[in-house]
Amino acid sequence: MSQREVRVRFAPSPTGPLHIGGVRTALYNYLFARKNGGKLILRIEDTDSTRFVPGAEEYIIESFKWLGIEFDEGVGVGGDYGPYRQSERRDIYKKYVRQLLDAGRAYIAFDTPEELDAKRSEIENFQYDASTRGMMRNSLTLPPAEVERLMAEGKQYVVRFKIEPGRDIHVNDIIRGDVSVNSSILDDKVLYKSADQLPTYHLANIVDDHLMKVSHVIRGEEWLPSAPLHVLLYEALDWKDSMPRFAHLPLLLKPVGNGKLSKRDGDKLGFPVFPLEWHDPKSGETSSGYREKGYLPHAVVNFLALLGWNPGNDQEIMSMSELTAYFDLEKCSKSGARFDYQKGIWFNHQYLLMQDAEDWVPEFDRILQANGITSTPQQEARVVELMKTKVVEYTDNDGNKKKRNISFVSDLWPLTKFFFVAPEYDKEDKFVRKNWKEDTAAEMQELLDVLAPLEDFSAEGQKAAVDAWVEKTGKRPWNAWRVALVGTGQGPDMYELSAFLGKDETLCRMQSAIKALG
Ligand code: GLU
Repeated sequence: MSQREVRVRFAPSPTGPLHIGGVRTALYNYLFARKNGGKLILRIEDTDSTRFVPGAEEYIIESFKWLGIEFDEGVGVGGDYGPYRQSERRDIYKKYVRQLLDAGRAYIAFDTPEELDAKRSEIENFQYDASTRGMMRNSLTLPPAEVERLMAEGKQYVVRFKIEPGRDIHVNDIIRGDVSVNSSILDDKVLYKSADQLPTYHLANIVDDHLMKVSHVIRGEEWLPSAPLHVLLYEALDWKDSMPRFAHLPLLLKPVGNGKLSKRDGDKLGFPVFPLEWHDPKSGETSSGYREKGYLPHAVVNFLALLGWNPGNDQEIMSMSELTAYFDLEKCSKSGARFDYQKGIWFNHQYLLMQDAEDWVPEFDRILQANGITSTPQQEARVVELMKTKVVEYTDNDGNKKKRNISFVSDLWPLTKFFFVAPEYDKEDKFVRKNWKEDTAAEMQELLDVLAPLEDFSAEGQKAAVDAWVEKTGKRPWNAWRVALVGTGQGPDMYELSAFLGKDETLCRMQSAIKALG
C-alpha cells in the first residue's frame, strides 16, 4: 500500500474549558504528525449549539499557545480545507445527507419527542433500530406523498442512519487491534436535524475527516464505541478506501481508586485538571489551571506525554524534539493511565531546576511585590541561586505535614522572606531556645565587633576575619548568628546571607537580636 500523507486532527467541541485528557490527545496527535512529517489540524466541532460555551474556543487556542503545541491548519491558522469551524460548514454536510438518503442508507423520521417518550415507556429498552423502525413515523413507513406533505408543511424531522442488523463490524485500531461489534446492538443514529439545519457529531466528524484528508484518527477511549458506526458511515458514503486508521488512547484514571479522572478529583486533591484557569461564564465559578498554579509548560507536556506511552526505556525527562523522535502510537498502552499528579509536581521541580535563576525572576518578583517588597532582579536571582535546591514543607490531603523539593517559584517566598524583611525574634522558637543561651548575647557582640570594621564584606572577606576569631577564641557562633539574621534555623550559608544583606543590615539585625533575646 502506498504511504499516505499523514494528516491528523484535534477536534474539540467548545463546550467548556479543555480537559487535561484532551490536552494529552492533542499532544499525541502533535507528536505523531511531527514524527511523520505530517500536518496537525485544529477543527472546532460546534454543531451542538445547545452546548456551546462562549470563550471556550479562545481558551483552547490560548492553551495550546502556552503549551507550545502548534497547529499547521485550522481555526486560528487557516489552510486549504477550511472553514475549520463546523458551524460554518452547514451547506457541505447537506450534500452528504442527501447522498445517504438517495442511496437508501438513511431515512427521514418525524417522530416527536413525545412520541419517542411514549414508545420508551411502552417498550422496555427501546432502541430506534431495525426491530422498531417499522412502527415509527418515518419515510420507511409513511407513503411518499405524506412525507412530502409533512416536509412542505415545515414539520421538523431528523435524518437517521439505516443500520442493517446482524453484521460484524471490525475496527482495526492501532492500539487495540481488531475490535469487533455486531451491528444489531447499534441504533439508527440521528445524523441531521432540520430544527437547526445541522448535522450531528457523527456525520460532521466523518465528512470533515474525509474532506480534510485525515489519515489517522487519534482520540480518547471514550470515542471507541462510536468507531463501528463511523466505519459504517465511511462505507455508506463510499469512502471506505480512504478511511483513516483509528487509535483510541487509554483513559486517564483517578489518582486513587477506580474510574476516570474527573474535575472533582482535582478539587478534592488540590491539582488542576485544566491547562489554564477557567472562569465559567454561567456559574461564575473559577477552576484552577496549570499555568496559574506555576507549572512550566514543558513540564506539563513531558508529564502528559508519559501518561499512556513511554519510550521503552526509563528516560523520563524529554524535550519536545526527543518526545517527537521517540513517540510511537504502537507503544501506547491499552490500559488506563493513572493520573499521578505528584509526578507532575516532580516534573515541574526538574524543569525549574534546569532553568537559569534569571528565568525565575519575573514570577518571583511578582510574588515579592504582592507581599509589599521591592528589590532588584539581581538580588532576586541571587536569592534563587542560594535557595532553589531547598526543601519546602507542605500539608498533604490528610492534613499531615510533609516535605518536598521546591517545585514552584511560589514555594520560595516562605523560605526566603528573611532575605527581604528583618525577622521578628521568638524566644519560644525551638531553634532559638536551643541556640540562644545566657552568654550568647555577649558572644554575638564580639562577633559584631569582628565584622563591624571590615572593609571587604564579601562572603570570603567575612570568612577570613571570622575564621581567625574562631581559631583564637574557640567560639562556635554559627547557630546563634543564624538566629540573629534569620530568626530561626533556616536559610543558606551564613556568609552568603550576610554578604547579601550587606554590612549595615547584618549588624543591625545582630543588634536587634541582642536586644530582643538578651
Ligand atoms: N468533538 C469530539 C470531542 O469533543 C471529537 C472526537 C473525535 O476526535 O472524533 O472530543
